[in-house]
Amino acid sequence: MPYPPPRPPAPNGPDVCPSCLAEVIWCVTVNQRAQMVDAKPDPKGNSCVRRDHTGRYLVRQLTKERPTVEGAEALHMPHVATCTVPAPRRTATPTRMSAARVRQGVRPTRWQR
Ligand SMILES: [Zn+2]
Repeated sequence: MPYPPPRPPAPNGPDVCPSCLAEVIWCVTVNQRAQMVDAKPDPKGNSCVRRDHTGRYLVRQLTKERPTVEGAEALHMPHVATCTVPAPRRTATPTRMSAARVRQGVRPTRWQR
């Protein structure tokens, strides 16, 4: 195949969290990234969710410039804040590992004579 297979489209709309199976809504952020918010509106949340004319769920965070809910938006809680199965911790990056760890897996001696 001359081209790599296209990535599957980002999920959008009501779904369940793949980690904790809670009901969530997949939304598109202003940066075109997928983000999960809790399915039930929550006045304590900071994510304004609305649907555009094509039915896509869009989300934006409350900001100092636009601190209130506008139009058809509803406040939701970002699901990362309520997920009961937290995302796995990222492993240490090489810059944060000790010199011994960084050298691990590297041939300790010259292999070309
Ligand atoms: Zn979850």
